[in-house]
Amino acid sequence: MSKKPRGRLFFANPGPTNIPDSILHAQAHHAVDFMDADFIALYNRCVDGLKRVLRTEQTLFFYTGSGHAAWEASLVNVLSQGDTILIIETGNFSESWGRMAAALGIKVQTVAADWRLGVDVDAVRAALAADTGHVIKAVCAVHNETATGMVLPIQAIRAAIDAAGHPALLLADTISSLGSIDFRFDEWGIDVAVGGSQKGLMLPTGLSFTAVSGKAMEVHKTSTLPKAYFNWTAMLTRPHKSFIGTVPTSFFYGLQEALRMIHDEEGLADVLARHTRLGEAVRRCVNHWSGNNGPQLYCNNPARYSDSVTAVLMPEGFNAEDIRKTALSRFNVSLGGGLSRLGGKVFRIGHLGDLNEPMILGTLSVVEMALKMNGVPHTPGGVDAAIAYLAEAAQGG
Ligand code: PLP
Repeated sequence: MSKKPRGRLFFANPGPTNIPDSILHAQAHHAVDFMDADFIALYNRCVDGLKRVLRTEQTLFFYTGSGHAAWEASLVNVLSQGDTILIIETGNFSESWGRMAAALGIKVQTVAADWRLGVDVDAVRAALAADTGHVIKAVCAVHNETATGMVLPIQAIRAAIDAAGHPALLLADTISSLGSIDFRFDEWGIDVAVGGSQKGLMLPTGLSFTAVSGKAMEVHKTSTLPKAYFNWTAMLTRPHKSFIGTVPTSFFYGLQEALRMIHDEEGLADVLARHTRLGEAVRRCVNHWSGNNGPQLYCNNPARYSDSVTAVLMPEGFNAEDIRKTALSRFNVSLGGGLSRLGGKVFRIGHLGDLNEPMILGTLSVVEMALKMNGVPHTPGGVDAAIAYLAEAAQGG
């Protein structure tokens, strides 16, 4: 039996992410009646605080379920049998959302894109302009593609919809961007945002939510896709104006603490700045390694680098799973693997949530050791490049 390395698991996955001790403790709360007045007050404070992270004053619905639940809710509440949606291809997660829509009987049209470069926004505008009959009812956009480490400029997508004079709703997945990368529901004209607990919000997996615009609520009233647990109209009749069944109260003790950390302890602007800083440190490190035909950034579009996750593309002939296995079995560092067609080709470094400089540098050091141990070509010293950058940033440089 192989021995487990000592020390705490260093978790560098792009979700779930590290759960701070204070959130773990807050969430380990005894059962309360979800109709208890104190709990309802706490719940309402959580709704307000989460809306501040989403940058919205509109309606919020929660689901006991992972991000997939909120994905399904976003579709069944605003679409009807025979409707068409336009999926913007970003990677594994845009494909999965599209597959779910198809399974629900929705017709799926896709704006194709190179996963390393990202979509051409003009192609989105053209697809909508070509739809003169307004068959397309919603545009689905994954803000941060967790599989590739690339962001999609949601404002530009909004502008493309408007430029085409198209009435489609804009559905945005903010599962791996919320609380890590700037996201503005109201200002960017988003109609439905899909979020989850286990990434930037630093909570365990299992709570998800949708923010919903007034326009989307209007469309919802006439949507005919079957819905029961996810039905927004039914939710509005419930005491918490959400949750058809028992409210998972412990999540809200955890969420209250997460929101305290985000808003009161660090401040949302500083949370986002920390993600930008740590993301840039990872990229500098990988770019350094890429010399000597080493591993390189999978994202080939600097304007769209993700500040919450970096996918690292292995040189030809080397398997990313070997790096993951070495990091975990020898050093207790958990990295993300390659998803769908990127299996074995990339590993992913999550840099979102409860994370600081030493944690990032520790992870990068272990990856550099694993590259060396597996005989993967690279230019040594990537970690030094990250250190140099972070030291300068810490001095306000
Ligand atoms: N969308 C994105 C961008 C994701 O990263 C994920 C999961 O990682 C999902 C959707 C699916 O969410 P879940 O795994 O919580 O169901």
